[in-house]
Amino acid sequence: MNTKHLTPSAGRPKAIIIGGGVIGCAAAFQLSEAGFDCTVLDKGRLCSEATTAAAGMLGAQVETHHPGPFYELCRISQGMYRRWTDALEHTGGVSTEYIAEGILRAALTEEDEQELRSRLAWIQDARWCTPDELRELEPALSPKVRGGLHFPADHQVHPAALARALKAALVKQGCTIREETPVFRLLKDTRSGRITGVQTAEGPLYADTVVLAAGAWSPALTEPLGLPLPMFPVKGQCISVKPQAPLTQSTVFTKGCYIVPKADGSCLVGATQVEAGFDKRATAAVIADLHARASALLPALADAEFLSTWAGLRPGTRDGLPFMGTWETAPGLIFATGHYRNGILLAPAAGRIVRQLALGEKPLLDLAPFDPARHLNQPAP
Ligand code: FAD
Repeated sequence: MNTKHLTPSAGRPKAIIIGGGVIGCAAAFQLSEAGFDCTVLDKGRLCSEATTAAAGMLGAQVETHHPGPFYELCRISQGMYRRWTDALEHTGGVSTEYIAEGILRAALTEEDEQELRSRLAWIQDARWCTPDELRELEPALSPKVRGGLHFPADHQVHPAALARALKAALVKQGCTIREETPVFRLLKDTRSGRITGVQTAEGPLYADTVVLAAGAWSPALTEPLGLPLPMFPVKGQCISVKPQAPLTQSTVFTKGCYIVPKADGSCLVGATQVEAGFDKRATAAVIADLHARASALLPALADAEFLSTWAGLRPGTRDGLPFMGTWETAPGLIFATGHYRNGILLAPAAGRIVRQLALGEKPLLDLAPFDPARHLNQPAP
């Protein structure tokens, strides 16, 4: 058993990152680049929860339904993405399988068409396509599509490849990765209130900065501090199928279903959205439902070979916004959690924000809407 204790020292500042999903790994990558001696702790294997259950869309425009701080954050992270994956690939030598093809968001009903058209008032990098224009871009689309939006900047990565690239880059940068090491609680200096480390089965570990990136499990660690984070797991089930020949270049998306073509010729079809606690079972009924929805958009998928199914737990928040920032009652702790449906997209920005907060720099955008204690200031309903 490794009993090495991390104690803040006069040398390199130490950082502990709780949670080795895409957000924790992105934070560790940035912090180690900035000179921190980083340890990533995960209760299981690195990136084995929501991160590798994801579809990998970088859907800044397709995923947002109104302008505001969340859209701004998504756009910033999308703008950082290619350089971030280049840096990961350069550092660790592993591809993220970045695909620079956009997303077609097609309407199959009048109501959906109206909702999509209303986005044109504020959305950037999008154009409305008639049914003929959509099928000119992707001839396999159903003749029933009523038109839709083309988002050429909403690219994709392969989440499993991204996970491998992150791990390789962290190892190369000298981060310590400790898998199968759950954090039981945060350690607090009773006099100053400062978070000084974490308690694990192997004993206490100390650091100058502790980053909370434990995804849907984060509230269990903040509640004992008096901060109940309004977060909950949102189960998402996907299927993977393989058509006889590639059907689309772009990701195609309609209300309640998306189809993401991957480099190996498979198509990822997602995803359900259910609040069912921490239940991650993939169920048979969902396979049929997702396949029916996908075939309504791309009829040739009816003959595709079934490959696999899985489910993951998105770290959902009540207002749909992540928790990013610090809390004055617990200095030393940086929050990087609650990225819900968009953690793959938001990882570069989340990592950069953690680095800026740890260094005491101005964050790349106003963090007030993402304040981890924002709900404490709201009047009771
Ligand atoms: P996680 O990946 O869940 O990582 C949290 C980690 O913390 C886990 O590894 C866990 O083991 C660890 N942990 C928890 N508690 C402790 C503890 N006490 N001690 C130590 N370790 C702990 N996002 C996109 O941007 N694009 C998409 O196309 C997309 N598609 C999705 C499709 C599905 C079906 C799902 C489920 C999600 C999708 N998402 C997508 C969302 C994205 O996957 C998440 O937002 C993202 O993975 C969250 O990352 P995370 O690091 O916060 O959480």
